[in-house]
Amino acid sequence: MKLYNTLSKTVEEFIPFEEGKVKMYTCGPTVYNYAHIGNLRTYIFEDVLQKGLEFLGYDVKRAMNITDVGHLTSDSDTGNDKMLEGAKREGKDVMEIAQFYTNAFLDDMRSLNIKVPEIIMKATDCIPTYIEMIEKLLKDDYAYISGGNVYFDISKAKDYYKLSGKNPDELRIGVRDSVEEDVAKRNPADFVLWFTVSKFENQILKWDSPWGVGYPGWHIECSAISYKTLGEYLDIHCGGVDNIFPHHTNEIAQSEAFLGHKWCNYWCHGAHLNDASGKMSKSKGEFLRLALLKEKGYSPLDYRYFCLNSHYRNSLVFTYDSLDIAKNALAKLRNKVLSLDTSMVVETEKMVSYINKFKESFENDINTSMMLTVLYDVLKAKDINDTTKFSIVKEFDKVLSLDLCVAEKETISEDFEREILAKIEERKQAKANKDFVKADSIRDELLSLGVKLIDSREGTSYELI
Ligand code: AMP
Ligand code: ZN
Repeated sequence: MKLYNTLSKTVEEFIPFEEGKVKMYTCGPTVYNYAHIGNLRTYIFEDVLQKGLEFLGYDVKRAMNITDVGHLTSDSDTGNDKMLEGAKREGKDVMEIAQFYTNAFLDDMRSLNIKVPEIIMKATDCIPTYIEMIEKLLKDDYAYISGGNVYFDISKAKDYYKLSGKNPDELRIGVRDSVEEDVAKRNPADFVLWFTVSKFENQILKWDSPWGVGYPGWHIECSAISYKTLGEYLDIHCGGVDNIFPHHTNEIAQSEAFLGHKWCNYWCHGAHLNDASGKMSKSKGEFLRLALLKEKGYSPLDYRYFCLNSHYRNSLVFTYDSLDIAKNALAKLRNKVLSLDTSMVVETEKMVSYINKFKESFENDINTSMMLTVLYDVLKAKDINDTTKFSIVKEFDKVLSLDLCVAEKETISEDFEREILAKIEERKQAKANKDFVKADSIRDELLSLGVKLIDSREGTSYELI
């Protein structure tokens, strides 16, 4: 398996710490708003990476954070608190906002056939680990207290700029552009580990700590969640390219200072999806999300297919024309697969060479467009029968996850979806009031309409049956 590693800036042979096992960490969403389709492109690339590794036989353990505290509008600890912005915008409290957008995120993941990571942890569930890490960083002199907050001192980190390749001069330009400068920092690039001095009067989420009542900085969250759930060594860490600096740079600095050794060997970053006007961003107000594509008659898997056509390290411009092309191509592909005669005998030995070609394309730094080419080659092949073709496509779809072997999933109208979500909320209230009879009757009512509720730690989602 060859993977491009942002750390070495080269394509490298992938060798995990433990043979046959992969520990993978993928940065998750800040749940103050819906995900835009750019975010979803990154999650699709990470999903293909996980499933491809599993297809090669690796046992993959993957973790993801849900950021529900500590992320400010600028990644370098300035600006407004994103969660408070979300709460203000919608006149709700922060926890309601977090729960609502966590559910929305999980729904997007499911409709794109993205496997939800086996470990998903909310930032607010990890406070003792932040405190444990920050105490050690202070004790070992990697961190300092100034103006009431705890900061990481980047001058103490070994080769702080190794991931980004950025030099301090370039950084200074960034700092000059920044709207505010924190005078309590020793170095402008130092970052907050723990805030006790909040500039937000209505800061609701606060915890006791050895440094006073406060809340964690954003960067420490991923380091701590990774340490707590995956241990001291990590094989792969992913995110979008915007995470390289400062987020992942800071994660490396604090994790390696805390652990006392190298932490993660492979850093994989997905290039951005842009719209015609440039970078896609939530702060622009209106932004493209999956629900809008659904409203316009596209299926989420049309979008997944659109993403798989280009390499994850190439930036991609979203246009409806390209999505139309993807939609038509996927429909034709699915028709072709579904029209295969599946009553013949599978030529198992002949499957191997096609499956190997597919694996080789994946092993070539996740070359998804080549993986699709191998799929088309299978459908055109003259040396295998239809049933064998169907079996191969079924195998490939374990990674591509385009539902190639099933008729298109039933979709529902926006109104019906709203009705279901309202019922889920009503059931949640009933449960909170210990009215379990009502809660069960809502569940049964939805079931009779073909909607099955799925309860998990993150809340309730649904699937159509
Ligand atoms: P956020 O919710 O903004 O923290 O971002 C969630 C994930 O999406 C992160 O891994 C980001 O790096 C990634 N991301 C942000 N913007 C884009 C974009 N335009 N295209 C692709 N990925 C993005
Ligand atoms: Zn992160």
